[in-house]
Amino acid sequence: MSVQHYYPSQFKQQASDALANQTLRSNFRGAMDYLQQKRKDAFSDPQELAQLREHAENIRQRCLSKLPQLLEQLEKNCQANGIQVHWAEDAKQAQQLIAELIQSQGATKVVKGKSMVTEEIELNQHLEGLGIECVESDMGEYIVQLAKETPSHIIMPAIHKNKQQVADLFKQHIKDFDYTLSVDKLIQTGREALRTKFKQAEVGISGVNFAVAETGTLCLVENEGNGRMTTTVPPVHIAVTGIEKVVEFLSDVPPLFSILTRSATGQHITTYFNMISGPRRAPERDGPSEVHLVLLDNGRSQAYADEALRKTLQCIRCGACMNHCPVYTRVGGHAYGTTYPGPIGKIISPHLQGLAQTSDLVTASSLCGACEEVCPVKIPIPSLLQRLRHDAKLPAAEQTPSLKGQASAASWTEHTAWRMWAWLSTHPSIYNWAMAVGVKLAKYLPMPMGEWTRCRNKPELASQTFHQTMKRRASKSVTRSATGGAR
Ligand code: SF4
Repeated sequence: MSVQHYYPSQFKQQASDALANQTLRSNFRGAMDYLQQKRKDAFSDPQELAQLREHAENIRQRCLSKLPQLLEQLEKNCQANGIQVHWAEDAKQAQQLIAELIQSQGATKVVKGKSMVTEEIELNQHLEGLGIECVESDMGEYIVQLAKETPSHIIMPAIHKNKQQVADLFKQHIKDFDYTLSVDKLIQTGREALRTKFKQAEVGISGVNFAVAETGTLCLVENEGNGRMTTTVPPVHIAVTGIEKVVEFLSDVPPLFSILTRSATGQHITTYFNMISGPRRAPERDGPSEVHLVLLDNGRSQAYADEALRKTLQCIRCGACMNHCPVYTRVGGHAYGTTYPGPIGKIISPHLQGLAQTSDLVTASSLCGACEEVCPVKIPIPSLLQRLRHDAKLPAAEQTPSLKGQASAASWTEHTAWRMWAWLSTHPSIYNWAMAVGVKLAKYLPMPMGEWTRCRNKPELASQTFHQTMKRRASKSVTRSATGGAR
């Protein structure tokens, strides 16, 4: 299956295309307004919200501060529960590992619950290349899979589509579909198609919201019941998660769960909350006979090594920062060209794809601070963006260790221009002369000044430099004092 690809290096073009697409813009505007209002209603007491955020931030920071130990504890307790634990350093290793687990069962049919980590490692494409059918069972994911697209939002993958577009898609792909624009009937149709897939599946793959080190429990938050079906109906369950999802205690889960659902969809609790503590045991009749947990690094430990960038790993993937971002709400998720779009995507993606590839994303922000204000775990996204902007422009040799090997977006011309500016600024007489000449010549210079004037008017330069103006004012005031301040 070839999926429509977008690339972070083409952000500007993709964003322009998205802005010109009126249907897309209206789909996003409607959805984002709705989600913003739902969150607002769910946190009606600002004082309570402040306390909840403080508590959630503390939990995430405590857990991250002990991450290496907690991962070992998680592995030990999962194994004690009969869960087989595997480690994957990068996307390729994770793809291979999961494919081998599936092939060792002789399986060719897989259902997948919603999982952004498996999007990150492009698991579907890899499995399909090996002749393994991998069907998305979350309704939004199912829709984007039919459309041969990727998710445009981390919790609502098909939010860019309206019901008409979904109905057209079902008409194209689902046999005997009785065309309708009724949302309930559309969902029913999708569910019926998926029910057959659940019955046929030999392996179920899911993500994990919280992995509890204390008990070796995998927690999964969902609304459709597809997560429960994926993790209980097929004989083998493979859970895939990033290493940062570990929490220390079972008691850490309720506060995080509560603030996650309220921030994400305005729900006080989701319809389903699954706690997986191992394979089926005698005399249980339901559940898989094998459970595997794949722990993925893929750039996370590099971010972890840097005290500031480590905060990125606090994220509980609620999507609130996207829903409130003035850039995301206008261009949507695909424009970013990364698995994780929006504000959180801008600070995660450099660790996954490198700074050179994602340097346009870190500048695609007005730094208005809305993302930080709504983030339930208080990630300082704007200051992390500023940090990444700075690092992106450093020559590769000068990069901080946490971003080493990610290449640099530094351009020789830009670097030289700033060096010259710095030199001029420390040589006042040459600076003054250059400015005076520059101001005189500026009106003859052709415009546009590249990107800057593409959607702005040409800036009008003052007829005198700042220094000349100040000198003129100073000499006027001297003259006034000499003449007794005559008016
Ligand atoms: S950065 Fe904060 S607001 Fe954005 S998805 Fe993560 S937890 Fe949610």
